[in-house]
Amino acid sequence: MSLLSEFPEIRSQSLMNKMMQTSIDETALRGDLKRDEPMSHHTSWKTGGNADFYYSPADIEDLAMFIAMLPKSLPIFWVGNGSNLLVRDAGVSGAVVSIAGVLDSFEILGDNKLKLGAGLACAKAARNAAKQGLSGIEFLAGIPGTIGGALAMNAGAYGGDTWQCVEQVEIMNRSGDVRTLQREQFEVAYRSVSIAKDEWFISATVKLEKKDSEKIREQIRTMLSERADAQPLGQLSCGSVFRNPEGDYAARLIEACGLKGHAIGGACVSDKHANFIINTGSATSTDIEQLIEHVRHRVAEKFTIELIPEVRMIGDQVDEVSH
Ligand SMILES: Cc1cc2nc3c(=O)[nH]c(=O)nc-3n(C[C@H](O)[C@H](O)[C@H](O)COP(=O)(O)OP(=O)(O)OC[C@H]3O[C@@H](n4cnc5c(N)ncnc54)[C@H](O)[C@@H]3O)c2cc1C
Repeated sequence: MSLLSEFPEIRSQSLMNKMMQTSIDETALRGDLKRDEPMSHHTSWKTGGNADFYYSPADIEDLAMFIAMLPKSLPIFWVGNGSNLLVRDAGVSGAVVSIAGVLDSFEILGDNKLKLGAGLACAKAARNAAKQGLSGIEFLAGIPGTIGGALAMNAGAYGGDTWQCVEQVEIMNRSGDVRTLQREQFEVAYRSVSIAKDEWFISATVKLEKKDSEKIREQIRTMLSERADAQPLGQLSCGSVFRNPEGDYAARLIEACGLKGHAIGGACVSDKHANFIINTGSATSTDIEQLIEHVRHRVAEKFTIELIPEVRMIGDQVDEVSH
């Protein structure tokens, strides 16, 4: 049993102290501010401890106001749909901001360009682009995140990735100021992009190619059906846990170690796709993190290849929580 579940008042006391030190003028806010919010409600693994503060803004002005009023010492974490996120069981000390479903505009700019809000669901962006006869983001149809998460992760599939069609992005900083940056100002690589600490994506302008709508839709249907054949959809996961090492596949290496079906607590390596870890119902984030470490260890032992997690991990270890 964890220290926190045994002594819940430890977190409440620490939260109480933080709330007293954190001057949030709630009367000025129009969004939804929650305290001690279970992050398991906001991650696709459905695990994770509580966040001190969780804010879903009303709009961009409200978001800027909230960000600017937080003391500089308070860590801020942005999340989208939590579909690539492991939140540790002791929770998140600081403020979590979610713009999923809020800054979710889909603007047609002409010249085959779209401006996509960072809170827009990837699947919706792909579907709406198809409707406009615009091709280039079909692969986003099967990615259960937001445009902001896809930008942060340089999410990709079927040979495409998010930044391949990005021309410019809008960024918000810790003072709540928004500015526009060009694609060339970022270093983009496989599942990563350089973005300064405490800066976050607000929108992206993408340049696409004109094609026949029905052909684009057909392409999306094919991708979704291949995905359903290969991946354990409908089970609680974060998609691929590890990046593919150069010239190989993490799933192949994990399977070759005989780890399909291997479980720690309620976390289990998928029988269908070895790079997926499933929460079979009772998993904690600790179970999942331990299984990730176990898989890394076994693959390193057998192949001398260091698997790098694609999944982002945030939050406190249970024994790190401040009293
Ligand atoms: C079934 C399944 C299939 C998947 N298939 C794929 C796939 O084919 N390809 C692929 O690449 N991924 C895949 N994923 C993983 C995941 O969906 C992607 O990484 C997605 O881009 C994450 O988006 P999100 O909004 O859920 O981000 P989150 O998981 O909420 O956050 C991920 C990271 O992005 C950061 N972030 C989120 N929003 C912003 C923002 N606005 N500004 C700055 N940083 C931000 C967070 O701080 C965090 O570090 C899959 C996941 C699942 C569950």
